[in-house]
Amino acid sequence: MTVHGSCHCGKTKFELTHPPAETTACTCSYCAKSGALWAYYPPEAFKLLTAEGDRGLYLWNSRMVEHYFCPGCGMTTYGVSPVFVDFKPDPEKKQIAVNARLLDDVDIGVIPVTVIDGKNLW
Ligand SMILES: [Zn+2]
Repeated sequence: MTVHGSCHCGKTKFELTHPPAETTACTCSYCAKSGALWAYYPPEAFKLLTAEGDRGLYLWNSRMVEHYFCPGCGMTTYGVSPVFVDFKPDPEKKQIAVNARLLDDVDIGVIPVTVIDGKNLW
C-alpha cells in the first residue's frame, strides 16, 4: 500500500511503497531537538515527488548523514545515510530515514517505537 508524506507547507512531498512497521526515536542532540520519529527504507522504496532544489541540507558531526528539511516551513523531512551494521557505516549501501510524523493517513501512534541512545552512542 503506497503511503504519502509531506511537510507542513507542502513544498516537500514524497511517496513510500508501504507504511512503516516500526519507527525509531533517537536521543542524540539532532533527533531530540527535531522531534523526528524515523522510519527506515531502502532508497528504491522512497520517491521524492517535489524538486530536489526545494530542500535544505544540514550536515553535522561526522557529516555522513544528509539531513534534509523544508526551507519553507522548517520541518525535518528525511535523511540519507549509509546503512549501519553494528554501528559501523557501510558506504556502499544507502538508506532513507523518513520522518514518520509527516506521513498522511498513517496512525503512527499504533506503530511500535524503538528508542536508540544516540546521545551516548555518537
Ligand atoms: Zn514545508
